[in-house]
Amino acid sequence: MPMAKKKSSKKTARRTTTKKVAKKAAKKVTKKTSRKKVVKRTASAHKKTTKKRSTKKATPSAAKRHASKKRAKKSPPKVSRKSGAASTKKKAPKKRVIAGKMIYSFGKKTEGDSTMRTLLGGKGANLAEMTSIGLPVPAGFTITTETCARYYQNKKRLPKGLMDEVAKSITSLEKQRGKKFGNENDPLLVSVRSGAAVSMPGMMDTILNLGLNDKSVKGLAAKTGNERFAYDAYRRLINMYGDVVMGVDHHHFEQAFSEIKERYLADSDTDVPAAGLKELCDVYKAIYAKHVGSRFPQDPFKQLKLAIEAVFGSWNADKAVSYRRIEGMVGLNGTAVNVQTMVFGNMGDDCGTGVAFTRNPSTGVNKFFGEFLVNAQGEDVVAGIRTPQPVSEMPAWNKAIFKRLISIKKILEDHYTDMQDIEFTIEQGELFMLQTRTGKRTGLAAVNIACDMIREKRITEKQALLRIPAGDLVQLLLPYFDPESKLQNKALTIGLPASPGASVGHPAFTADEAVERASKGEQVILVRKETSPEDVDGMHSAVGILTSTGGMTSHAAVVARGWGKCCVAGAGAVEINESVGIFRINGKSFGRGDLISIDGSTGEIFAGSTPRIEPDGITGNFAKIMKLADKHATMGVRTNADTPSDAHRAREFGAKGIGLTRTEHMFFEGERITTMREMILAENLDDRETALAKLLPFQREDFAGIFTAMHGLPVTVRLLDPPLHEFLPHEPDAIKKVADNLGVSVEAVQRRVSALHEANPMMGHRGCRLAITYPEILSMQVRAIVEAAIECANNKIKAIPEIMIPLVGIETELAVLRKQAEEVIAAVKKEKNFKKKLDIKIGTMIEIPRAALTADEIAEHADFFSFGTNDLTQLTFGYSRDDINTFLPDYLTRDILPEDPFQSLDQTGVGQLVEMGFNKGRSAKPGLKIGICGEHGGDPKSVHYCHRVGLNYVSCSPFRVPIARLAAAQAAIMDG
Ligand code: PEP
Ligand code: MG
Repeated sequence: MPMAKKKSSKKTARRTTTKKVAKKAAKKVTKKTSRKKVVKRTASAHKKTTKKRSTKKATPSAAKRHASKKRAKKSPPKVSRKSGAASTKKKAPKKRVIAGKMIYSFGKKTEGDSTMRTLLGGKGANLAEMTSIGLPVPAGFTITTETCARYYQNKKRLPKGLMDEVAKSITSLEKQRGKKFGNENDPLLVSVRSGAAVSMPGMMDTILNLGLNDKSVKGLAAKTGNERFAYDAYRRLINMYGDVVMGVDHHHFEQAFSEIKERYLADSDTDVPAAGLKELCDVYKAIYAKHVGSRFPQDPFKQLKLAIEAVFGSWNADKAVSYRRIEGMVGLNGTAVNVQTMVFGNMGDDCGTGVAFTRNPSTGVNKFFGEFLVNAQGEDVVAGIRTPQPVSEMPAWNKAIFKRLISIKKILEDHYTDMQDIEFTIEQGELFMLQTRTGKRTGLAAVNIACDMIREKRITEKQALLRIPAGDLVQLLLPYFDPESKLQNKALTIGLPASPGASVGHPAFTADEAVERASKGEQVILVRKETSPEDVDGMHSAVGILTSTGGMTSHAAVVARGWGKCCVAGAGAVEINESVGIFRINGKSFGRGDLISIDGSTGEIFAGSTPRIEPDGITGNFAKIMKLADKHATMGVRTNADTPSDAHRAREFGAKGIGLTRTEHMFFEGERITTMREMILAENLDDRETALAKLLPFQREDFAGIFTAMHGLPVTVRLLDPPLHEFLPHEPDAIKKVADNLGVSVEAVQRRVSALHEANPMMGHRGCRLAITYPEILSMQVRAIVEAAIECANNKIKAIPEIMIPLVGIETELAVLRKQAEEVIAAVKKEKNFKKKLDIKIGTMIEIPRAALTADEIAEHADFFSFGTNDLTQLTFGYSRDDINTFLPDYLTRDILPEDPFQSLDQTGVGQLVEMGFNKGRSAKPGLKIGICGEHGGDPKSVHYCHRVGLNYVSCSPFRVPIARLAAAQAAIMDG
């Protein structure tokens, strides 16, 4: 039971009670999953025990430590899809990075390859690679990410000489294509796209058909004999250029297009005839001139220069900055710019464009998956303007192209040995590849693809483990709607199952609204016609996303899948009226006060709250991956659990013991709180001992339950930690109730409550300080532990308790309390006449900076250490765990902090204390067992760090145990 519920004044707020800050990263995991049902599985699946680390590794030399600190400053390499393509089977010859070179070509001469993604961006590197392996890629060139960095260093001016280099590269493209840039009769047209080293879908901008102007559009029409196509290309350029380069609101263009469509009685864009598009170009140019204050540029080089600047500029647009913050992307140079000769999917019905995945990105099923649109250009598929056809319908349109795509799927997977996300265009029956990148996928798909690829012998076990982003495993533990309830509650409509999961919430109609209402604790579902990159903050805050247009590869779908957030897209029956704040489905209205349920695995939308069921737990491929993880991990994973049911669940999830049982959580239920208060309010030792005697059986019963659930595995029980006034009532009514219950006066209770008041409870009378003042509390708790262990032993249950003394900062504290605990253990054994071995270890938390600084002294009295990095972070930074949210958003948006230090361990600062505590502890006691039980124990990056430091185990909440197991294996594999 979280103590937060019991808090009655802000001052009493503290870390154990308000895990909300430190647990924010695990919000999805811990909050949503606390009631999860799981399928039982035997503990025998997890046979591996924690391996001891060598003393040598444990006590590195100063030089080694320095090196390790330096490493620690860098984030551990990302192991997710973000890190890009894995090794290739048939590698194209490795290309050379040339210092200062701003442009790398691909085409007839290809200067880059897939290893150069930091410099060329993922897109540029893969265009070069695809060209090298012989795939049909239109020629082009990439301006490096370093050039982008120089642009910013140069106060947003293009580096000297860049445009000369660009002109040379354009000349080369002209030669390859036999067309001239800006030529009035047969112009060379190019696309301009951004592309960072790490994929940021939809975050940055694309400009197509660049090079067209009033004259060359006529030439293009004449040359292709297709006036409609030429003006379609031109209107797109003016629109994209106006929007992306000059910041003209897209809405103005959209409105003008709607009016033309109405005038020409056109249902869709493709129904507008050439005359309409010609007219539209004029209207667009007028819109452009009105909002920009000058004519649409006719000089193609001017167009190109400004487009390059716009791409560089988009790197620091708010939406891109937000995306990088949410995704934790740090240390990137900037974006590359890819300039590529245009091929056209909109020249007629033998043309088209599409996006696809070589396997299903939601489920991982090995079947070509994607969408295409006939007679359409680039962005039409992702923009969700027209509803695309699934690629399975492509053979009916063009069998040969489909066959070619299937053969390219194989070539790409053989080459990249991973699932790819591709973009392609068909120009008059000829297929061109425009992009390939490692495909984003759900946690389920990541696990299934990894297992399939091991079976297909494409990758090794280790590679497979590294392919799965550890944090995404939580998606396999996501809830789903109860099928029975679904049968009784007919779906209002069915959209596309864009990202799995089941969400219930109140509709929010804008991203800002979603952020605001979610920050107040409301569960909201973001309901939009379509989402755009501007909406990322709102999408992130919402529990689910529902869009009325867009396909499986729309922005909403791609981003939601990346986050593992439930999303239903393209639900055409949903009519949204954003200004009024309602949406309608088949005549039924839903406003902000209504609840809706969306099923991201089926696309169904229901009125009201549909009951959810928790997933099956670790079975099938998931179990296989977990088994492999345990095979490779060298660091153990325990859990933080305070109840037998949490302990059971964690064991099913593979925990190898309990690293932290917070005993304060055991004093709230039923009559326990009354007895606890009686103990706290006691004015003398006798009364306190009387109350403690009443608490003893409760404690014993709790411990016996947990030891039984963890039979054969260690259970670290932490003695009482919070300041006592956290258990006391503060409101007059509650005080009266306590006074009546205890048969004392209201004044007596008030007097005691005031006496216990502290200005700084977090640094006050808590942790081991309580046991120093009230040794009888420690005696009762230790007695309960020993009696429970003996009871278990008598019932043939192997209890392995470990007693942990919190908040030690001075060695004498531990020496004194250890002695007392040992005396109690001996006394209880004697009383119970228990002759068998009862090896109860006594250790401490290292959560106060002084404890880390004097860990060698403290280790003399400890059998184990456990880093309490929640308090250690709090006390190192001087940030209150309870109040950090008042300023953290400013620190994150202004890049003062790279991330919330309560979520991911601050390796540079707090890490020094961890390393010092570790090294000093091990220098005094080479075999000292050392773990971590702060919330960081479930954060993959922090887990990796703990591995590097050499900890024996991490301990985290039950639903993060699988994540920590995989992260521990990844750390072992990556660090060799
Ligand atoms: C810690 O401080 O890291 C810890 C685990 O203890 P608590 O969160 O209960 O303070
Ligand atoms: Mg603590």
